Amino acid sequence: MSRKGPLTDQWVTCPGCGKRGYSSKRAARATRRNVDHTHTMNIYSCKVEPRYYHVGHIPHDVRTGKVTRGQWLANIAARDARLRGEAS
Ligand SMILES: [Zn+2]
Repeated sequence: MSRKGPLTDQWVTCPGCGKRGYSSKRAARATRRNVDHTHTMNIYSCKVEPRYYHVGHIPHDVRTGKVTRGQWLANIAARDARLRGEAS
C-alpha cells in the first residue's frame, strides 16, 4: 500500500444514527466495491445527518420492485425516528 488513507478508511460513526458514515459518496462507493460482491448494497445519504453516506443492503422487496427505494428509505427514516424515541 503506497497510498495513504484509502477511501474505505474514511468513515466516522454517524452522529445521527450511529452507523458507519462516509463523508463522501466516493468513499462509500469504494467501500461497496470491496464488500459488495452480489451488488445488493445501496448507498444512501443519512436521513438524520444528510452530509454522511451509508452503505446498506437493498431489501428483497426493493430489488423485486415491490417497494420503491423512496418508500424503503422513508421506512428506514421512520424506524430510526422510532428507535430514537421521536415518534412515541
Ligand atoms: Zn446516519
